[in-house]
Formats: sequence, C-alpha cells, structure tokens
Amino acid sequence: MPDWKPVTPPSSSSLRAGSALGHLLGVPARHDRVTHVEHVPARQAAPTRWPDWVDERLVSRWANQGVPGLWPHQAEAAELLHRRQNVIIATGTASGKSLSYLVPAVSAALDGGTVLYLTPTKALAADQLRAVEELDVPELRAATFDGDTPFEERAWVRKHANYVLTNPDMLHRTLLPRHAQWSAFWRRLEIVVVDECHGYRGVFGSHVAQILRRLRRICARYGAAPAFLLSSATASEPGAFATRLTGLQMAEVTTDTSPRGATTFALWEPPLTELRGEGGAPLRRPAAVESADLLADLVAADVRTLAFVRSRRAAESVALTTRARLQDLVFGGEAPADLPDRVAAYRAGYLAEDRRGLEKAFRSGELLGLATTNALELGVDVSGLDAVLIAGWPGTRASLWQQAGRAGRAGQDALAVLIARDDPLDTYLVHHPEALFGRPVEAIVLDPGNPYVLGPHLCAAAAELPLTHDDLEIFGPSAKEVLAGLVADGMLRERATGWFWTSRERATDLADIRGAGGSPVQVVETSTGRLLGTVDEPSAHTSVHTGAVYVHQGETFLVDELDLEAGVALVEAGTPDYTTFARDVTDISVLESLRSHSLGPGELHFGSVEVTRQVVSYLKRRAQSGELLGDESLELPPRTLRTRAVWWTLPASATVSLAQEGLDLGGAAHAAEHASIGLLPLFATCDRWDIGGVSTELHPDTGLLTVFVYDGHEGGAGFAERGYARALDWLTATREAIASCECERGCPSCIQSPKCGNGNEPLDKAGALRLLAVLLSTPEPPPSTPET
Ligand SMILES: [Zn+2]
Ligand SMILES: [Zn+2]
Repeated sequence: MPDWKPVTPPSSSSLRAGSALGHLLGVPARHDRVTHVEHVPARQAAPTRWPDWVDERLVSRWANQGVPGLWPHQAEAAELLHRRQNVIIATGTASGKSLSYLVPAVSAALDGGTVLYLTPTKALAADQLRAVEELDVPELRAATFDGDTPFEERAWVRKHANYVLTNPDMLHRTLLPRHAQWSAFWRRLEIVVVDECHGYRGVFGSHVAQILRRLRRICARYGAAPAFLLSSATASEPGAFATRLTGLQMAEVTTDTSPRGATTFALWEPPLTELRGEGGAPLRRPAAVESADLLADLVAADVRTLAFVRSRRAAESVALTTRARLQDLVFGGEAPADLPDRVAAYRAGYLAEDRRGLEKAFRSGELLGLATTNALELGVDVSGLDAVLIAGWPGTRASLWQQAGRAGRAGQDALAVLIARDDPLDTYLVHHPEALFGRPVEAIVLDPGNPYVLGPHLCAAAAELPLTHDDLEIFGPSAKEVLAGLVADGMLRERATGWFWTSRERATDLADIRGAGGSPVQVVETSTGRLLGTVDEPSAHTSVHTGAVYVHQGETFLVDELDLEAGVALVEAGTPDYTTFARDVTDISVLESLRSHSLGPGELHFGSVEVTRQVVSYLKRRAQSGELLGDESLELPPRTLRTRAVWWTLPASATVSLAQEGLDLGGAAHAAEHASIGLLPLFATCDRWDIGGVSTELHPDTGLLTVFVYDGHEGGAGFAERGYARALDWLTATREAIASCECERGCPSCIQSPKCGNGNEPLDKAGALRLLAVLLSTPEPPPSTPET
C-alpha cells in the first residue's frame, strides 16, 4: 500500500505548491501513483558579521551585490581556510558554497599570495571568473587558463595572474609538466579550490586524485604548502572522500544554514500497463510519458514548470506530447489558442543564441513549460519556478536537489515531483523516502591506488621532477610496487637517487584521464566523411556496435558498421523510433580475495578478478513506450579486464535446503544479481552501466553459489569496494526494491536488466527474495534440523 496521505489544505504561504499537487491529483486514477509527499519546511537564517580580516572594499562590493554577510556555514568554512586549514564544504545546492572560498581566496590574493581554482568544466570557470571580476579590485588579477586561452595570453597569465581558474586536464597536461615556467605562481600559492568535486568519482576521480598529489609535490618543490578547499554536493562521509582525493586530512562543514522556501516534494510511480516486455513481463508507463501528462496539466493551470528528462530525445518528445495534449484542450475550447506554443524543449546541442532566447522567454513567463535535459542543471539562470518535474532518478542526490532547487528559489514555495522509471533503484527510492530526505547514504568513491591509474601518473611525476624515495609516501602504499613494475617494463629508470623518466615522449600522454583506456574508435558519418567524435574502445562495443542508435549533440545516428580493426564506426543520420541496449555475457575468475567476512550463513568477499565480457546482442525498445521490438545478435570479440569485485557465497548446506523448497537457485541468484547492480548506485555514486555482474549456482573458483558485482573499469574504480563496505544495507535495499514492485514474476522495475546477455533468463523473483532473506538472516543460532 502506498503511504500516501491526502495533502493537508494549503496554508496561504504554500498555496501555489499545495494547490499544484492537488490539481495533479484531481484525476482519481492518479491517487495511487503518489507514494509519498514530503513537506520540506522553510528555513530561516540570520547572516553573521563579516570576519575582520576581509578588506573593506570587498565587504562593500558584496553588500552592493545584495550579500549582507556570510551564513554561519559559509563563515565556518571561510574561517578554516583563512587559517590555512584544509576543509571540505559539502552542503546543498544554492547554499552559497562559492562565497565560503571566495572570501578567503580573494583575501589571500590581495595579501600577495596566489590562488588556483579547479573545476571540471570550462563553463563553471567562466562563471567564477565573472564573480571575481565583478569585485572590481585592481590588485586582483584573475584569469582562466584552459584549452581556449590564446597562446599570447598564456604568458601573461603565468607572469601576472594571482587568481588562476583552470581544470584538472590543463593541470595534468600543461601546468605541471611546465612547472618551471610557473615558478613565481607556485612559490606564492596559498589556496587551492577544488570546486564541484563530487564530479571526481570513479576512474576519472582516481586520475584527479593523482594529479592533485603531483600538484602537492610540485608546490613543495617551490616551498609552498597551499591549503585545499573542496566544495561538494551533499554526500555521505565527505571528509573521507576529500582525504582520498587529496591525500590530506580535511575538516568537514556539512550543515547548510542558508534560508530557503518550503517545498512540497512528491514521489510518483507510474502504473504498470497492459504492454508486455521480455518474458511477458508487464511494462510500467514510461516516466517521460507520465511527465508530459503532468506538464500539460500544470501548464494548463498556469503553473510555471520545468520538466527534467534523461535524454535529448526525451526532451523533444515530452515537449511534443505536452503540446499535443494542450492542443486538445484548445480544440475543446478549454484553453487559449496560444497555450501549446508556451511549451518548448531545451537541451545541449541547440545554438547558444536559441538557448539564451529560451531561457529569457522562460524567465519572463512567456514560456510556461520547458522540457529539458540536465543541460539546464548547472550554471544557467533559470529559477524561481512554481514546479519541477524530474522524470527518473537523476543519478545522485546532488543532481536531484540541484534540479528540485530550480523551483522556489526566490523564497517562494514550490512543488517538486520525482517520477520513477522502470528501474530497481527508482522503484526503491519512491518507496523509501527516507533514502532521499534523511541522511545521505551515497558516497563519492574513487580508487587512487588503481595501478592502471597510478602507473601513468608516476611516469608523469618522474618526468616533472625525478621521483625520490621521500616522494613515495605522497602517492600511497601501492606506489612502490607499481614503480617496480614500471622499471621492469622499461618505462622508468631506477638510479641510486630515485626514478627517472628518460624517454623523449611526453609522459602525460600515458594517462587518458577522461577515457577508459584502449585506442579510441572514430565515429564517422559515411555520406559526408565528417568525424563526429571518438569513443574509447571498451565503450565502442556497447555504444557504437553495428545497428546501435547513437546520439551525438542531439542528432540521432544509426551505426552501419563497427570496424574494430580499422578503429572506425560508420554512421548515418536517421530517426529511428527505438533505442538500443547492448547486452553482454560475462565470465569471471577470482584472482585473489583481499578481504572477507561472514554474512548470514554465507561469506562476503572483496578482491581482484579477471572478467571476460562479450557483447552478444542488442535489444531494441520503442522509445515512446519501452515496448520490446527485438533482440539482434552481434559478433564482437570478447574483452578481458582485470578489476575489483565484491561477491557473496552461500554454503552448500543453505543451498541444498533452498533447492528442497523448490527454489530455482540459478534464477534466484540471477535476479538478486540484477537488482543489486541496480541498487549499488544508491551507496556509491556510479551508474549501473559502470558496473557488471555474474551469478551462478556453482562457481568453479568458490565451489559455491556465488553472486559477483564488479567494477567495469580496468583496475577498479572503488564501486565494488563501497559495496563491500556497505553490503548489509546494500543487499537489504536490494531485497526491499524487489519486494516493493507489485509485478508478479519480475519486470524491468525490479529484477530484469536491459543489458542482460542471457535475455533475462532464468529469473526467479520469489526465489531472489527467499535467497536474500537467508543471506541476510543472522547466522546464530545455527539452523538446526528438527529431529523427531
Ligand atoms: Zn517488478
Ligand atoms: Zn542477467
């Protein structure tokens, strides 16, 4: 039973949001779809006084911009950084994190120091540059330094700028290798700001962690020991993450004290439909289609609404469907003739001027409804809306609140609705509001010790300055072993004083920090010869295989042929009304169990594995309804990867009695595997496509029923490790997600997986629940056979 309660009659202050939800629930059939309504209350706050170390001119500039002072959490972080303590500020969206580092960082620059600001995106750097320039203080010489910075400007930045905004890629490829040209900057470096650092997760995060270690080593060479401020969205254990990212101890500031308006937050689950998918499983109404209905209703009621969807295609189709619904109202004389034109789609790939135009029309109220991808999530000034619809869990709480925060920013009340997709994680979340509104459980994970990441950075570091024995500590406990391997492979030379890079090649070319390794595959349009982009080799198998639907900057292409030998995928523009999902089969062998403990009657392990994956077919699903259109086979070579995995086993004593109950052990384990892959992103900030799994009734290496979940990246990315650390909660959530789904024998919302290479066969939903119940039972007292 959904725990939905009728919304209490809105007080005058929450009239808009309350009545908007009431309006959506005006259709009786929809009552069951709301699984929870959370009233997030308004928060009052009073600013603190400016710290006395802040320059008077800055205080007055900020006052002119309407900043009365710092909120207590901003003041706390600013004070720590001013005292040159390392700190991570992990608070919600719109909590003013940037002011907490701007105040001490700008002050440091005015006192003769320099500041390095790092962000994952150029857009954010441009945004921050504007914020610094608007302070209009002549001694403050801020500049961005990225791939777009003209050559003649670079020398000026190196010599004169005291506030440099750049990204980890530039640090890796330019600033660190050419550190000698930047000596004056390093010598005075007081503060390093790492903004939006929750983006540094998984393999990319592991690369950034090593780049920051190289940065610390170069600074030390010039006698500087800058303090680090990390700014992050809320996550569990931010201090531990910050320490992993930088290698430094970090203070945490996590309480958001900024004022906010009240939000009515509804969790919404679309109904199962008559449509049947794989194995006759019922299909849920797609979240995008449900969103279009709600968007139409809200726009018709004059409620300014933003609908976030997952893909560009969905943005277009939601806007189209919404307009069609409104057109029906116009024909029925229930709406003014111009209403359909007040709804539009917004996404990356539109011309910049078109996007500015849409933003302007939406801000002014000329547009009432906008369907958008997360292109609108960051850095775009559209706020103060009445309602936000979020079609499908956006992947992290950070994104969820970023999107929900678009409504009601100006202190007025707002409505936010999260609409579940047919996915086990979405199912779990709409039935477990505490996972969204309580303390965060998802952590940002990375694995800087991954030898495939560490190796190239040790080479890069040695090329910057020969590595000494004293340097090893900074690169972590696995550095010594990895160095020995690099020496054996002839990459580095070992001498009495340390390790040297003697090649004439650029060492930084070894680390492909945003890719997953392997030589890239070029995506080429056959008719024009135009190079659309590149895809790394492992991803090519799943994203540009022959027959795949490939989306590039909003345009849809069909892949005619993937030629791995030539490293080319040939594509043609097209408008198929279906999406494709690559499916793979996996074999796994255990190389080494690194940690283990008992779990119920079974055992839990974390360790190294070798995975052999082969993409064998792809699934076609109708874009509008999710309906299954076919499964086409593919011939691609298997790929082998060495990575990390978490796995659990059950002893023969347990499986024998389960088999006696009539349980299909293989189907139960397979179903539990699929659902657990779906749920791991709740605990580790990963995507279900970042991880994979294998389940078997009898695994040759363990001799037992075993379910593996592995990191889909060479060397591991920290996801499996996080699963090991939170196994009890993770597997409990997995069981609850399966139990919450009202389908009878399994569907995409619980145990079916779109990437299953075995065609989602065999799967046993009831068996999976029973299996997990046994695994999660307390082992004591040991199960005794009743004796008569
Ligand atoms: Zn289901
Ligand atoms: Zn499967």
